[in-house]
Amino acid sequence: MSHLKYLTGYPPHLLQQVQKLVEEDKLKPYLAQRYPATHQIQSDRALYDYANNLKQTYLKNAPPIDKVYFDSTLGLTHHALGLHTTASRVQGSRLKTKKEIRIASLFRQAAPEFLEMIVVHELAHFKEKEHGKAFYKLCEHMLPGYHQIEFDLRLYLTLLDA
Ligand SMILES: [Zn+2]
Repeated sequence: MSHLKYLTGYPPHLLQQVQKLVEEDKLKPYLAQRYPATHQIQSDRALYDYANNLKQTYLKNAPPIDKVYFDSTLGLTHHALGLHTTASRVQGSRLKTKKEIRIASLFRQAAPEFLEMIVVHELAHFKEKEHGKAFYKLCEHMLPGYHQIEFDLRLYLTLLDA
């Protein structure tokens, strides 16, 4: 099951079910039925507003986001779940921290649920660095059903890769 690389860490019985879906060509219809819509967020500006809205709703006290954009250099093989960076630089005597979120361009054409999941994931990293219990709790709070959507997103990446 080497091609199920996006599902590393999930229990074997689940992977067997996915393997079956792949072999029977049922992955695509499964996802199409569950996630029929496509979101309308196409520009970096719109993406910034979208992310900032979520941030203002759930993480009001976190520092402002400096930049959010679609990044075509983030491929499937890289960090498919997006990339958040905190660039620090010295400005005068103060340390200025820049908060950036990069979203792989492949999510320009994706279901709204998947875009939301990715943005929520990256925003949650503003508060929690590690993928621990607190991190996922925050994700679930910002997007109920987060776990299922992340799993389905991994199925989606598996499909794109096939
Ligand atoms: Zn992460």
